[in-house]
Amino acid sequence: MRWQSSQRRSFLFWVAIVFLGVMLWRLASGNKSATANRDEITYSQFLAKVEAGDVKRVTIYTSPNSYELIGEYVRPADRSFYLTIFKEAAPEVLRLLQQKEVPVTTKEVRTGDWVLILLNAAPLILLVGFCLFLMRRMQAGGTFGAFGKPAAVKTGIGYDLHRLESGRKLIVGGVELDFDKGPVGHSDGDVLAHALCDALLGAAGLGDIGTHFPDSDPKWKGANSLLFLEHAKKLLNEKKFAIEHVDAVVITEKPKLGPHFAKMREALGRALGVSPDKIHLKAKTNEGVDAIGHGEAIAAQVIATLSQR
Ligand code: MG
Repeated sequence: MRWQSSQRRSFLFWVAIVFLGVMLWRLASGNKSATANRDEITYSQFLAKVEAGDVKRVTIYTSPNSYELIGEYVRPADRSFYLTIFKEAAPEVLRLLQQKEVPVTTKEVRTGDWVLILLNAAPLILLVGFCLFLMRRMQAGGTFGAFGKPAAVKTGIGYDLHRLESGRKLIVGGVELDFDKGPVGHSDGDVLAHALCDALLGAAGLGDIGTHFPDSDPKWKGANSLLFLEHAKKLLNEKKFAIEHVDAVVITEKPKLGPHFAKMREALGRALGVSPDKIHLKAKTNEGVDAIGHGEAIAAQVIATLSQR
């Protein structure tokens, strides 16, 4: 019988729940059995027991201000007791125990209480953390992602071109450049952002930029194209896609783009919620030929790589 991936996820989810429950139960039972046969007694009760010869042996845990005493009764042999005394009372207690020939073991507690608590709680913290991690992976649909099976990788391509006319703003990669021409377009005409948006949507199988932001909609007239990228990122998140890498070429005769790449990568990275390191930009001229070479148009090509969690 071949299990569907949803069945496998469900099965492992319940295995993790049962595992967590059993471990917590064992932990609780262990603590209970360790302390179930131990009585907390007062200082005067302790002195009386020692005087009566009812104490078999005592272990003293010393710390800077107080001592904890854990001891065993002569009868019943399976019960023990504990109490905490001030440091000042220790000489009298030791003298009495020596007088009654009760064996005493002294242990110094060198670490602070918080360290002891942390050490005691560490297995539980690790266990809970592991189970939460496992459950999160399974709920995210990446049951086996952490255990060897590679995440699904998708690639998308995007292309855009805009005519350039005098007296318009030139915005590329979310950065306004000082130039005497700018793109003709319904939005701000950012070719790099548009091609990138198409590459991302294409990789995720979500259509293209025209599907989501039709140029017939007056809402997008003059719009900042980084908003398109922010929206595309939300759509990717809904389908559990993560952006792994973006590689882009912007083709224009003028102006020089290289000096502005750092700002562009930062602006695009911010819009997409990824590190600029994941965005690689290149610039080309068209060697003076065709519309781009004549300075009449600007274009961009982008390839985006996504992984699906
Ligand atoms: Mg466009």
